[in-house]
Amino acid sequence: MTSITIAGVDIDTRHWIGGTRVASDSTFDTVSPVDGSVLGQISRGGKLEADAAVAAAREAFLTWSRMSPAERGEILLRLADSIDEHVEELAQIETLDNGSLLRSHRRGVMPRVAMNIRFFADYAMNRLSHPEFETRGHTNHVSWDPSGVAVIITPWNAPLMLATWRIGPALASGDTVVLKPPEWAPLTASYFADLAHRAGLPAGVFNVVQGFGAEAGAPLTSNPDVSRICFTGSVPTAKVIAHAAADNLTPCSFELGGKSPTVILDDADLDLAVDLAIEQYDNAGQVCLAGTRLLVQRGVADAFIERFRERAGQITQGDPRNEETQIGPNIHLTHIERVQAFVDRAVSDGATLAYGGEVNTELGSHYFRPTLIVDAPQGSEILTQEVFGPVLTMQVFDTDEEGLDLANGTEFGLAACVVSGSRMRAEDFCRFLVAGTIWVNCFFVRDLSAPFGGSKKSGIGREGGLWSFDFYADVKNTVYAPNGWKG
Ligand code: NAD
Repeated sequence: MTSITIAGVDIDTRHWIGGTRVASDSTFDTVSPVDGSVLGQISRGGKLEADAAVAAAREAFLTWSRMSPAERGEILLRLADSIDEHVEELAQIETLDNGSLLRSHRRGVMPRVAMNIRFFADYAMNRLSHPEFETRGHTNHVSWDPSGVAVIITPWNAPLMLATWRIGPALASGDTVVLKPPEWAPLTASYFADLAHRAGLPAGVFNVVQGFGAEAGAPLTSNPDVSRICFTGSVPTAKVIAHAAADNLTPCSFELGGKSPTVILDDADLDLAVDLAIEQYDNAGQVCLAGTRLLVQRGVADAFIERFRERAGQITQGDPRNEETQIGPNIHLTHIERVQAFVDRAVSDGATLAYGGEVNTELGSHYFRPTLIVDAPQGSEILTQEVFGPVLTMQVFDTDEEGLDLANGTEFGLAACVVSGSRMRAEDFCRFLVAGTIWVNCFFVRDLSAPFGGSKKSGIGREGGLWSFDFYADVKNTVYAPNGWKG
């Protein structure tokens, strides 16, 4: 079988290379976390398909890179409109494939997928410029030139959103793209290829190689014809990719894991603090930015814990397609075993399980209960390593300085959430927080113009707005002499 039908859409599950569908000799199953059913089979790519996709993208680069931003933009804006027209199908496909909430996909994620394409197309056409400046009478002119073939490798927790957040600026820069989607949620990438084709993207400009990381991903990262590698995923995989890229000195953008803090200072509005803390369970904890370490100042700790427990007890867990569901399933049985092992080790390391800590078997085997761990020994694994499931920890601190030490006390630095009643105090606190993004009295407010990325082991580089173009394009400075012109 080379197709899967969801929401009335026939999704072709072969690779998309050079403007045609290409099958591999072998396939793998994609399983729905909603009910554990096998949705169908996907082509399982390897070096052959990876090399073919890069070659197709190289060839297409010759014409795509010569088009003007406006010519490329016309096609990309058509693609964005087409995504908007197919939000419902995309939402249903993604929910069945990765288990995230259908209502979030419909109202937030898929409209943002369209915006990822539209925003960067518009940016390239209308905003990508730098004022010329003079050096001893000479004029410096800065331009952003297409760099070549961008390889984009994505994880399963928000597959199409994370892919298009890179496909948008890469294509708008004039690069061509090879996407390697996640093996646990590969379907929206296949459907997206159809939408891109129908919007008029020329053959080879956008390619999809399906398969496993070591088989289909690795040969993409070691290919010398690749000009950029953008990887979103875990730290161990990033290290493997960094080694592969080193041989060709291919520039990489890494957006990796986190162990972010949610810091509640003792002048915080506690209702707001509880709301923000509960939000950290969103997407069943499978959010890189989640502030899974609740750090609460002693003066408000008892009141906060009481209210937080009450609210956590009211969370509705269930089928992600139901409107009232707040937390759906976790992606895969292997991942759930990993989450369970983290919780079990935390308890054997001396921490206390405040609630949750196991699969909600009434719902099947994919639904890990929202979990809270308290009194974990300082420095223990559950306080320092990313779980990527619905598992929060809580620690109490006395002084702001102590809170800051705890907040900065891991090898990650992706994000932080700070709740405080005083702007001045929040500013003081944030000044020394090490994180790519900090939200004060809010969470997950994102602007596509803003820099996004992680400090320390949470990543290398920043994307968003101009920062995306600085990565995907070759930034060039041309210096014009003041005189000697004949025409
Ligand atoms: P992962 O590292 O296991 O896999 C990510 C992708 O890399 C997959 O497509 C996989 O097939 C591919 N891959 C694996 N080995 C490879 C190799 N040797 N060469 C090339 N590609 C390879 O991560 P995951 O479990 O899919 O995703 C979860 C991780 O992603 C978490 O750590 C999470 O924090 C992180 N994440 C980060 C962000 C961010 O923006 N910072 C966003 C979402 C997720």
